[in-house]
Amino acid sequence: MLMWEPVIGLEVHVELLTKSKLFCGCANRFGAPPNSQVCPVCLALPGALPALNARAVDLLITAGLATHCDIPPRSKFDRKNYFYPDMPKNFQISQYDLPVAVGGWLDIPGGRRIRITRIHLEEDTGKSTHPASLTDGGEMVAGRIDSAEYTLEDYNRAGVPLAEIVSEPDVRGADEAVAYLQQLREILVWAGVSDCKMEEGSLRCDANVSVRPTGQERLGTRTEIKNLNSFKSVQKAISHEIQRQIKVLEGGGKIVQETRAWDEQREVTHSLRSKEEAHDYRYFPEPDLRPLEIDAAWLERIRKGLPEMPAARRARFESQYSLPAGDADGLTRTREMADFFEAAVTAGAPAKEAANWLLGDVSRMANERGGLEHVPLSPARLCGLISLIEKGTITRKIAKEVLDEMVAGGKDADAIVEVRGLRQIDSSDALRPILEQVLDKNADAVASFLGGREKAFDALVGQVMAATRGKANPAVAREMLREMIAARN
Ligand SMILES: [Zn+2]
Repeated sequence: MLMWEPVIGLEVHVELLTKSKLFCGCANRFGAPPNSQVCPVCLALPGALPALNARAVDLLITAGLATHCDIPPRSKFDRKNYFYPDMPKNFQISQYDLPVAVGGWLDIPGGRRIRITRIHLEEDTGKSTHPASLTDGGEMVAGRIDSAEYTLEDYNRAGVPLAEIVSEPDVRGADEAVAYLQQLREILVWAGVSDCKMEEGSLRCDANVSVRPTGQERLGTRTEIKNLNSFKSVQKAISHEIQRQIKVLEGGGKIVQETRAWDEQREVTHSLRSKEEAHDYRYFPEPDLRPLEIDAAWLERIRKGLPEMPAARRARFESQYSLPAGDADGLTRTREMADFFEAAVTAGAPAKEAANWLLGDVSRMANERGGLEHVPLSPARLCGLISLIEKGTITRKIAKEVLDEMVAGGKDADAIVEVRGLRQIDSSDALRPILEQVLDKNADAVASFLGGREKAFDALVGQVMAATRGKANPAVAREMLREMIAARN
C-alpha cells in the first residue's frame, strides 16, 4: 500500500496590539458597537489619505526578531485589489514583494524546525454578517431585515493592523500544525505583539494542505482551508482534508487547486472558490505611502526592548534557581507569572517555596479571576507570607488561610496574623493543658494506640490541631503527645 505524507504550510494573521488603526487615528478596539470606530480614512471617503502608524511597524519588527527573521532595510506597501463589501476601498494595503521580515524559524516541541518565509504588515477588512444567520434572534434584525439578500457590514475592524506570518510547507501533520500555532502564540503574546485571542479573531489561520507519496520530492496539488479560528478547528480541518485528499488520489482522482472552507457543524471541508493567484489581485505599489526605511538605529531600539523569550527563561529558571523542569515550565507560561516569581525571589523568598505557592494557591486564584493581574497580591507580600512560615510563626495550613485573607483584604501577612492571633503555638507550656484535655477526652484512642494501632495516634494529633484551630506546631505536638502518653501509662 502506498503511504502518504502530508505537507502543510500555514498563513497566520494576528491583530497587532496598537491603540489605533494602521492608517488612521480610529481606536483598535474589539467589541464596540458596529461602525462606531470609523473615520473618512478607514471608510475610504473621497480625499482621505493614509498615514502610517509607526507603533504597528515596531510590533511587526518585534514579531520578526522574536521568530529569528531578518529585517531588510527597505520594504514597501502595495495595493491588493479585490472587490468585497467588507473592503471600503476595494483594495487592501498590504506588502507584496518587499515585506518587513523574511527568513525566520520556530522550533516546535519534539525538536522539529518550521521555517518562516515572511511576515508582512497589512490592514484588516471589515466584518460581514449574513442575515440568514441573524434571523434567529439577532438584535440587528429588529424587523428591518427579512431577506437573505442583505449583508451587514461592520467597519470597526477595517484598517486594524495585521501581521501575516507565512510558514514554509514544513509542517507534517495536524498535530504539528497545532504545536506550531501554540508556539507562535506563546511568543507573540509574550513579546506583546498581539493578544492572540482566537475567540475574538485576533489570531486566525489559513492552512495550505497537500499530500504526496512518501519519499517523493515533488509537492502534490494543494488546497487552502480558510479562516480556522480555534486550535480544535485547525486540528480537525487539517486531519479531514488530508484524509479527503488521500481518498481522492487513491480512487484515481485529481486534487483541484482551490480554496475550501471548514464546516464546523458537519466537520467537513467544502469548496469555496477556485484558488486566486497573485495576478488575480493585480498588486501594485501603494502610491500614497512612501517605502518603509528601517535603519540600524530603529532595529537596535526594538532589539534592546525585546524580552527574554519563554524558552530561554525556562532554561535559566532551571539552572539559576535549581527548579525542576515542571516548575520552570509552569512559571513561564505567562510573562506576568515569570516576572512575579523573580520579583518574589529578589524580595528574599526561597525559589522553590515561591514556585510552590505560585503554581499552587496563587495559580488557582489567577484562574478564578481570569489572570494573575487580577489577583491583588504583590511579590513582596507573598515573600512576607513565606518568611512567616520559614520562621515558624505560622503553620503551612494557617498560611493558606492568611493568603486568602491577604488577597480578599489587601493586607500584609504580618498584620493578619497579629490581628487574628494566628501565631503558631510551639511552646510546651502553652500546649501542655490542651494536650492533657485531648488525652482525657480520648481514652479509647489512647488505649487503641497503646494496643499497637499507629493510626489512633494520628487521630489524637488531629484532635490537637482541631483544638488549636490549626495553630499547634505539629512536630512539637507529636513529640509531646508521645512523652505524655508514656508518662501516664
Ligand atoms: Zn479610521
